[in-house]
Amino acid sequence: MLRVGRRARARASKNYLGFPDGIGGTELAERSLRQARKFGAEIVIGTPLVSASSLTSPFCFELDHGPQVHCRCAVVATGVEYRQLEVEGVSRLADAGVYYGAAPSECHLYRDADVYVVGGGNSAGQTALNLSRFAHSVTMLVRGGSLAKSMSHYLIRRLETNDNITVRLNAELVAVEGKDCLEAIIVRNAAGEKERLRAAALFILIGGVPQTAPVAGILRRDGGGYLLTGRDLLTDGGQEGWPADREPYLLETSVPGIFAAGDVRHGSVERVASAVGDGAIALRLVHAYLSEC
Ligand SMILES: Cc1cc2nc3c(=O)[nH]c(=O)nc-3n(C[C@H](O)[C@H](O)[C@H](O)COP(=O)(O)OP(=O)(O)OC[C@H]3O[C@@H](n4cnc5c(N)ncnc54)[C@H](O)[C@@H]3O)c2cc1C
Repeated sequence: MLRVGRRARARASKNYLGFPDGIGGTELAERSLRQARKFGAEIVIGTPLVSASSLTSPFCFELDHGPQVHCRCAVVATGVEYRQLEVEGVSRLADAGVYYGAAPSECHLYRDADVYVVGGGNSAGQTALNLSRFAHSVTMLVRGGSLAKSMSHYLIRRLETNDNITVRLNAELVAVEGKDCLEAIIVRNAAGEKERLRAAALFILIGGVPQTAPVAGILRRDGGGYLLTGRDLLTDGGQEGWPADREPYLLETSVPGIFAAGDVRHGSVERVASAVGDGAIALRLVHAYLSEC
């Protein structure tokens, strides 16, 4: 088995099962690499996938600077590149009160606290609602003057009717402060004045970009660029989007024999545990696919 990758990013996982004190992304990736090598995987690092051409097995993937990889089956697990918020203090306090994204399961950690959400899209709105079940107050900081263009109407209505959620429009985060963890945020308000607000946590939901450009020409994607898999291929475009006589396997993409796992997949819950679970399922499906050809 050949695994192709860029360098691992240093994301910490606070809630991955078996690591009660959390584990950094780099350490988790290094441990996984060691383990994969023990099982005989050949690893290529630093030569990202740049394009994929063939629509039928055997596939041909082209790596940076020219080398090609030929294979009968492939699993795409290229993840999502989160948009970074270039604001003073954010990178220093990342994972110390400042977070990119928020899983519903983590919201209870901020019971009775005053928390902030940056962003005006559906993920930001849903996160605010999840947090509001536990937090004392949730304040959304939205740069624009309205939510209507970026968020679904039903979510806007739910935010409006929720007593402990405040939406601040024309509000821009300009800095975050804290010694070892987040203590306060500085916001430029609609009048252009800077306000210092005490904050227990800040959740940044300003979107991410699924890393699917190299396979964009051959695999079907949703409107956000995420890879469609399994039954989503059928419901989204009927049988037309699926070329084989059988139904697609759970994590199979629009090209039979190419699977997708983790954050890059449409509908992923964007957690380490689910990405690892997808990987395990994908490999079972690879075996099923290979046994039928
Ligand atoms: C700041 C932050 C904090 C988070 N905290 C938590 C947490 O506490 N708990 C939790 O469960 N989840 C957390 N997450 C989410 C978690 O990191 C992801 O759900 C998980 O990493 C997804 O794994 P993945 O393998 O799908 O993608 P990734 O971990 O993103 O891995 C994708 C890999 O593919 C590589 N790649 C991309 N394009 C190419 C290419 N063209 N060629 C070759 N390689 C490529 C990337 O460099 C990367 O190494 C956090 C995410 C962020 C951004």
